Amino acid sequence: MCPTYPHPTGWLSGAGDQMNSTPTVGVLALQGGVREHAEVLDALGARTALLRTPADLLGPDGLRVDALVLPGGESSVIDRLIRTFGLYDPLQEAILAGLPTLGTCAGLILLANRVEDPAPGQQSLGVLDATVLRNAFGSQVDSAEVELETAEGPVRVAFIRAPEVVAVGPGVEVIARRSQAIVGVHQGAITGIAFHPELTGEARFHRHLLTQIGGHQQRAAS
Ligand code: GLN
Repeated sequence: MCPTYPHPTGWLSGAGDQMNSTPTVGVLALQGGVREHAEVLDALGARTALLRTPADLLGPDGLRVDALVLPGGESSVIDRLIRTFGLYDPLQEAILAGLPTLGTCAGLILLANRVEDPAPGQQSLGVLDATVLRNAFGSQVDSAEVELETAEGPVRVAFIRAPEVVAVGPGVEVIARRSQAIVGVHQGAITGIAFHPELTGEARFHRHLLTQIGGHQQRAAS
């Protein structure tokens, strides 16, 4: 259901990132690290809209945002709040329709089809064909700044009780590993990363999110 991403390499390079107007990026703001994402997006020239209710995401004429960030935090809490606030279906539908989406850490867990070691009753949006194992790095990398190798060169990011991607479906591109562990994936307009670029001032993942906006124009005229 997700569109195939046309550029298997060069995903961090920002190629083609001309922004004609100021894009609005919805940052899910129910729990977790929202402010740092807003700061990175602001520095890139995007507007941030905090999403707490379905009406924040969806207006009478369609989506109110051009892209979406699912932040880190505690995935089981965010999952519960998404369902309590009636955001589960609107978020799932928007992402499956191709809304460019970046999930970091707990956000990656929320995106995944399958979650290993979930909290009791924990669900996920199930829009990314991947299996994630929560808290995979244990206390060893409980909270650490790490330089990761990616296809686009090294990136410096933070790991905080991070998940690992332990299996991916055929349409999923691996974009980052920590040693052998998969910690970044890409499918269609969805990017899921186990770490926090927003805590180290690494802006390329957010810039990449903005470059994907052109392909998805469901947004209501404002
Ligand atoms: N371990 C957390 C969870 O399972 C994720 C941590 C994070 O987002 N930094 O949701």
